Amino acid sequence: MSTPLPLPDLPEPAHPEVESMLSRKFGKEIANYFSGSPLNRVSFLRPDHTFLSAALNHPSATFLLFKNLEPLIESPTALGYVKYEDVKPILGDDPFATSEEDLVKEYNSHKYFPLVIFLGLDERKEGFVYKEHYKGQPYFAVDVTPKESVTEAAEKLVKELEGRGLTFSKGRMNLSMPAQEAAIYAEARHLLDWNLRNPFCATCGHATLSINGGFKRSCPPSDIAKTLLSQDPSRPPCATRTGISNISFPRTDPTVIMAVVSSDGQKLLLGRQKRWPPYWYSTLAGFLEPAESVEEAVRREVWEESGIHLGRVVIHSTQPWPYPANLMIGAIGQAVPGGEEVHLGHDAELEDAKWFSLDEVREALRVGTSGLGEGPGPEYKEGGLRVPPKTAIANQLMSAVVNGFVGGSANL
Ligand SMILES: [Zn+2]
Repeated sequence: MSTPLPLPDLPEPAHPEVESMLSRKFGKEIANYFSGSPLNRVSFLRPDHTFLSAALNHPSATFLLFKNLEPLIESPTALGYVKYEDVKPILGDDPFATSEEDLVKEYNSHKYFPLVIFLGLDERKEGFVYKEHYKGQPYFAVDVTPKESVTEAAEKLVKELEGRGLTFSKGRMNLSMPAQEAAIYAEARHLLDWNLRNPFCATCGHATLSINGGFKRSCPPSDIAKTLLSQDPSRPPCATRTGISNISFPRTDPTVIMAVVSSDGQKLLLGRQKRWPPYWYSTLAGFLEPAESVEEAVRREVWEESGIHLGRVVIHSTQPWPYPANLMIGAIGQAVPGGEEVHLGHDAELEDAKWFSLDEVREALRVGTSGLGEGPGPEYKEGGLRVPPKTAIANQLMSAVVNGFVGGSANL
């Protein structure tokens, strides 16, 4: 077990100081780790290659690099950023010099374009201005994995960066970054992962092209590489090219995660998987299925995994989770009287699920929190309940329950 790093603070919700009708009625908004990005994504500017090109070429433009989806870091608590001149040998003079329309028209499947994602503008920092209104330091993410035509240039860059004391973070989860950095990383990782998983069209099976600052993929109607074999560069018809849906969009998979409260409000249901450390329990969770409301998914998952029947379900807060593409929808659900007997037989996912008193959970939140591969805090006594750290939404849900539903769930 590794020694845990100090946990970062969670992001601030938007306008926390503003007293509003909504916060009086429903409590303060809770922002979870991986949300709270300081970047304005200006999504409507992504099709504008003049904007992307100007942002990329601005001296303040900042690049977050990934190799095999591992982010460049300075230390476990700081991402490593580089300038355009560092990645120029990989990206070339200007990957946004051509309009999207022409890129699709001139598509050549034999030509490798390293992925470059436009993440947004950091409005806290002055410098770049576009059409008067859109200001801030531009952020991009670039895939510098040595492959295809950039193998040599990428290998050279990786060596050079390592010479500067930067490394590509090997850990699967990066939960030690300050919250705002974590949110930038989450956006970049999610988009790169989606692009890398979708090199081919889901409808016709032909290669696709990343457009829109990395937020869409297009199935071009022709491919210049085909002219090596015949006169005609056109590809077979593809249903994705008709109507307005001639593109594919990044996917986000909704997941429900829920604190389950007993009908008398005095106990909390937690479960554990076999591979988790001893005494480590968490809230139940599962995927939202097609044509299911969030409330129904919560009730179904809880019944399938624990046999408990839930009544009222309220949504507490949500958390982006870029491993690889989840949105965790955090909820609190209350068992119906008589529906509280634990039965693990339906779905063999959990090794155990049981009711804990709120005092026991409160104590675990104080002394027994840790990531899965880490040891608990110094005050923890062997045999006591252990739970996830505050960077996990599960911790926020448990905290809300033991604190009398403060934090968005006052009307449970
Ligand atoms: Zn297609």
